[in-house]
Amino acid sequence: MCQYCQGTSFIDNDLLIEFDDSEELVDTVKVYVTSEAKLFLHNDYGAVAVPINYCPMCGRKLEREGNE
Ligand SMILES: [Zn+2]
Repeated sequence: MCQYCQGTSFIDNDLLIEFDDSEELVDTVKVYVTSEAKLFLHNDYGAVAVPINYCPMCGRKLEREGNE
């Protein structure tokens, strides 16, 4: 377990990465690991959660609550 995957909410976890591919406006995407075994990406316009099985930083198998 590491500082990127330890929190019960993504807000408790350190920011994994942020990037901004837009040339015309500030549109920074921030990426976190959530406690629900998802990669959570968000910016000012929306958010998307992608299921993952392992923490990309420490390799810990992430627990998924509820049914698989
Ligand atoms: Zn981790």
